Amino acid sequence: MTKALVTGGAGFIGSHLAELLISEGCEVIVVDNLTSGRMSNLSSIAEHAGFTFIDADIRDIASLKPAFKDVDWVFHLAGLADIVPSIEMPGQYFSTNVTGTFNVLECARNAGAERIVYAASSSSYGIPEVYPTPETSPIQPQYPYALTKYMGEELTLHWAQVYGLDAISLRLFNVYGTRSRTSGAYGAVFGVFLAQKLSGRPFTVVGDGQQTRDFTYVTDVAQAFLAAAQSHVSGEAMNVGSGGTFSINRLVELLGGEVEFIPKRPGEPDCTFADINKINTLLGWRARISFEEGVGHMLEHITDWRDAPVWDPKSIDQATEAWFQYLGD
Ligand code: UDP
Repeated sequence: MTKALVTGGAGFIGSHLAELLISEGCEVIVVDNLTSGRMSNLSSIAEHAGFTFIDADIRDIASLKPAFKDVDWVFHLAGLADIVPSIEMPGQYFSTNVTGTFNVLECARNAGAERIVYAASSSSYGIPEVYPTPETSPIQPQYPYALTKYMGEELTLHWAQVYGLDAISLRLFNVYGTRSRTSGAYGAVFGVFLAQKLSGRPFTVVGDGQQTRDFTYVTDVAQAFLAAAQSHVSGEAMNVGSGGTFSINRLVELLGGEVEFIPKRPGEPDCTFADINKINTLLGWRARISFEEGVGHMLEHITDWRDAPVWDPKSIDQATEAWFQYLGD
C-alpha cells in the first residue's frame, strides 16, 4: 500500500487530494496546522481506516519529522496564499513558504521518500508576454507571495538534482472549487463573488471585467498531483491549467447578478492562460471539468459561503491599500 503524506491536507486543494488518494487505496497522512480552521474539510474522509491526521506546522521541523516515517509520496501543499498579506508580512511568507518547504524536503529526504510533488504558482510568471504561457517563460514575481512560491519550487527541484529525491513542481493556474476559502483576507474572486451573491450585493468587478483567467477546477488539479506522483518524470516544473481562459464578465454572466466596478490593480495580468502541452505529453494529464460545469458545482454549494466575509468597494479599497501603495508606479 502506498503511503502518501499531504501537507496542507486540510486546506482547499489538499483536502480534495487527500480524498482522491484515499479513493485510490493509498494510506494517507494529512499534516496541517489548521490555521484556516479547516478540519471540517476532512470530515468526509476522517473516519477512513487508512487516514491519519497530524497537527503540525511546517515551520517546525521537529514536530514535522515523525509524520514522515515510511512515506512513499509527499505532496507539499501547505503554504500561505494571498497577495496583500504577503506584501504586509513578507517574513511570515518567507518562513512558511520557503523555510517550511526546506523543512518538508529535508524530512522527505531523511525519511527516504520516493517522490515529492510541490504546489507552485502561476503567479510566478508575473505579467506574461506569451499566451498560452509555456514553462520556459521568464519568472517575474510581482509580490512576495509569488516570489516565495517560486523559491519553494527552486528548492524542490534542487533537492531532486542534488539528493536524487524525485520531484515535480506543478504551477497551478487559478484553482477554484468547493471548499475554497470562506474566511479571512480579501482574496480569490470566487469566494468574493459567491458571498456577494448570497447577500444580494453586486459583484465587485475589477477594471472592465474583460481580463481573463485560466480557471482550473480543483478535482482536475487533484488528478494532476496523482498523475505526477505515479509518473517516473523528475526535476520538472509543469503548468496545470484548464486549457482555456475565461473573462470575469463571463463568470458574472454564469453566476447571474448585478455588478459594480472597482479600480484595476497594479501588477495584475490581463490574462492568465497555461500552455499545457508539457504536462499533457509527460503525464498524459488534461483537465476534464468545463468552466460552465465547474461554476455550476460552485452554485450548487453556494451556501458553504454563507459565513464568508462580504466585500464591497469600500472594504476592498481599504484591504488593498498596500497593494496600490507598494505595487503602483
Ligand atoms: N476580481 C474581480 N473582483 C474581485 C476580485 C477579483 O473582478 O473582487 C478579478 C481580478 O481582477 C482578476 C480575477 O478576478 O482578474 C481573478 O482574481 P483572483 O484574485 O482570484 O486571482 P489572480 O488575480 O491572482 O489571478
